[in-house]
Amino acid sequence: RTVVDPAGVDTPAARPPGSVGSLVAAARAVFDSGVTRPVAWRRDRLKAMNRMLLEHRGDFTAALAADLGKHPSESWLTELGFLASEITHTIKHLDQWLAPRRADVPLALQPAKAHTILEPLGVVLVIAPWNYPIQLVLAPVIGALAAGNTVVAKPSEMAPACAAALARWIPVYLGGAVTVVEGGVPETSALLEERFDHIFYTGNGRVGSIVMAAAARQLTPVTLELGGKSPVYIDDTVDMKAAAARIAWGKFMNAGQTCVAPDYVLGTASALFNLAAELPQAIRAMYGGAPSRSGAYGHMVSDAAFGRVAAMLDHDLRQDGTRMVTGGRSDPATRYIEPTVLHVEAGAVLMEEEIFGPVLPLVTVESAADAVRFVNARDKPLSLYVFSEDRGVRKAFTEQTSSGALNFGVPAAHLSVPGLPFGGVGGSGMGAYHGQHSVETFSHRKAVLDKPLAPDTLGLIYPPFGALKRQV
Ligand code: NAD
Repeated sequence: RTVVDPAGVDTPAARPPGSVGSLVAAARAVFDSGVTRPVAWRRDRLKAMNRMLLEHRGDFTAALAADLGKHPSESWLTELGFLASEITHTIKHLDQWLAPRRADVPLALQPAKAHTILEPLGVVLVIAPWNYPIQLVLAPVIGALAAGNTVVAKPSEMAPACAAALARWIPVYLGGAVTVVEGGVPETSALLEERFDHIFYTGNGRVGSIVMAAAARQLTPVTLELGGKSPVYIDDTVDMKAAAARIAWGKFMNAGQTCVAPDYVLGTASALFNLAAELPQAIRAMYGGAPSRSGAYGHMVSDAAFGRVAAMLDHDLRQDGTRMVTGGRSDPATRYIEPTVLHVEAGAVLMEEEIFGPVLPLVTVESAADAVRFVNARDKPLSLYVFSEDRGVRKAFTEQTSSGALNFGVPAAHLSVPGLPFGGVGGSGMGAYHGQHSVETFSHRKAVLDKPLAPDTLGLIYPPFGALKRQV
């Protein structure tokens, strides 16, 4: 492992204590120098990031294949190309997003002018997970740079090839603006001892609360992009074949290791019967009869991740209420779990925590109202997916449930709509980003009031309130 400083000098991880502190201090010195303020600097950094992604696309793609078995096309769609679009969108709209916003001044305070301006926060810490190990480091970095901050970025140690690729190229293209710190829990813990102006964490809720507690000690604002179970509700009003393809795509992409993947499907017995009839064919169309040999299908990130999902599946397959629809095979040597669909009872182990693997349980409910109750009895999801043409059902889910996002007819695709904020609510996180929402997240919106000294219209409210008494 190496720690890479902004100048691009690799030094052994066994740096003396305080080394993380010196990196953060360097990032702060760059911010304090004022270079990040001009919009031209920010735009140049974003263009440099774009060049980095395009010029080293092969290296990043190979790293994603090594860590997660991602197909190059999936890597482009969900990581590198996704970032390139976010950069283009941000560069295009940045002036408009940063423009001062006028605020009305009440009559009693006039004459005066009021507006708000966005100012950068300072040094931002980005802590990223392994499942989209390039995208989830760089997407927040785009927003943080666009807002005029410097960044310390901590990729996940669970995706070591991607972390190494970022540590190799970021110093070359973004040195000074972005500092990569490689490492795991000790390095992240050391970073959390430092003072930042914003901490942006993506990962699980348990570590989210560690991050938030550390941030609280220094009153540092946080964005927490967490996970949890994202449900699907489906009824018989939809084209089942088309819906099955959408659900299979969202679920089995990245071998189910997607924070917004459909976690489970709720439906009446009839809807689930019809969906179960279509899913095996949808899976075969995407990954062939032997997904283990399909280059389009990924694998579990680690032996531990493989073991966790395989054990849940094993457990529930031994329960009376479980009925297999398709899949179920696995291979620890290649960390492969076949795309799997099965009917389970609501009490199944698979229904306890986020699955985060390619296993899709189908859970029978009596009605849409029953499904709404089912969702509301659990943590607020990061995303909720409804497949129904029934306006009453759509209205019920819109008005009676709470989730980071609500999609009709397609899972996961809301991430690619740059105008939509991406974030959770309750157990699935706090704060949001992407596009303009990122710039707002990584800025302080400062209130500015300008009231000329003459005429002194405030004379009316100065003590001893003689003039006021006559009116109030
Ligand atoms: P992970 O294990 O890579 O951990 C995330 C980061 O936290 C890493 O950088 C890691 O070094 C750090 N970390 C781990 N333990 C720590 C500790 N004790 N103290 C300080 N730092 C620590 O990733 P993960 O948490 O397994 O990621 C999967 C979770 O993330 C899932 O729940 C998923 O739904 C969620 N997720 C959410 C989003 C989103 O945008 N909302 C995106 C992707 C993943």
